[in-house]
Amino acid sequence: MKRVIRTCVSCGAKKEKSELVRFVYSEKPEEDTDGNRHGRGAYVCDNEKCRDTGLKKMKLTRSLLCNQLRRTR
Ligand SMILES: [Zn+2]
Repeated sequence: MKRVIRTCVSCGAKKEKSELVRFVYSEKPEEDTDGNRHGRGAYVCDNEKCRDTGLKKMKLTRSLLCNQLRRTR
């Protein structure tokens, strides 16, 4: 199986995609449970702290998030 590495937007840890939780920002940030939602996505670690920080970052700095996503691709 192909390993897909993504970066947590909260703590910057690089992990396999399967170890991270994907959030998609459409009108409001929501967890992307099936991995197929459209919109700007971001990955965070599967823990409360990173989820919380990640959501705050998405709300406050959407442009920064955009840059981070571009860098990690
Ligand atoms: Zn993290």
